[in-house]
Amino acid sequence: MFDSISDKFSGIMRTLAGKSKITEKNIQDAVEEIKVALLDADVNLRVVRRFINGTMEEALGEKVLKAVDPGQQFVKIVYDRMVALLGDEENQKLLLKGPDTTSVILMMGLQGSGKTTTSAKLAARLKREGRRPMLVAADLVRPAAILQLQVLGESVGVPVFSIQGEKDPSKVAKAALAQAKKDQRDILIVDTSGRMHLDQTLMDEIQRVRDAIKPDETLFVADSMTGQNAVAIAQEFEQKVGISGVVLSKFDSDTRGGAALSLRSVVGKPIKFIGVGEKMDDLEPFYPERIASRILG
Ligand code: GDP
Repeated sequence: MFDSISDKFSGIMRTLAGKSKITEKNIQDAVEEIKVALLDADVNLRVVRRFINGTMEEALGEKVLKAVDPGQQFVKIVYDRMVALLGDEENQKLLLKGPDTTSVILMMGLQGSGKTTTSAKLAARLKREGRRPMLVAADLVRPAAILQLQVLGESVGVPVFSIQGEKDPSKVAKAALAQAKKDQRDILIVDTSGRMHLDQTLMDEIQRVRDAIKPDETLFVADSMTGQNAVAIAQEFEQKVGISGVVLSKFDSDTRGGAALSLRSVVGKPIKFIGVGEKMDDLEPFYPERIASRILG
């Protein structure tokens, strides 16, 4: 499904970009095709409508119809609007305190979204930047999660805090924060448990973890393949816990970024990173320009 989106865009753009004169009808047709391509890519209907209406209004202005290269102008409008929709780079940096105190990053998301992997990737990235991160295994639901984080932590040379047998993740998180301060670790990355579906127990649990450690960043990890579903889940997390940023995992898959557009637009939080593979250095900052180009082909 996602495969076709940039092909469709390329077709629309090629047709228009080549024209030396375009009519209102050409624009209407192109906008209609863009609408279908976005809906096909599972972009939220409200987001599509807003994008389409804005593009239409701007494109029907004199600047395009009377331009020397109207096709190019139109393509530029679509591209610029998509970049603006995807977010501004200013807000994409992590909100961290200086290295003389401990900043806390809380990781949330559904089971299988890539939370544990992303936590370790983030730790590796921050370590490369000269910080002293510590990982916390507070996913006490999935039996293998603690071991998984320990293995990943070891592979990137970042210590992993856990308490064997403890059932309350907020206690683990609190003890980890105290330990991090003692060890002069300047960033604490807390991997929490995810369920298959949203449920009240999960929300209560994460709220308690949040209240125990007062995170500087609350990152929602979303599988970029899940489309619309990711948006509904993110909204729920935003309401109940609060989200400061989004990480889109599995961007190396077939996705063309439909979820990125919807999440950014509906939840209104910056996408800070994208996961682009299973290896520990497969985490990249999110650049709206690059993703817009990818969506538009
Ligand atoms: P969690 O249940 O949310 O903690 O999910 P995991 O971190 O265990 O990830 C679930 C699966 O997705 C694992 O097999 C990961 O290797 C894989 N995964 C995570 N992030 C990425 C990514 O960016 N790209 C790819 N291809 N796989 C990923």
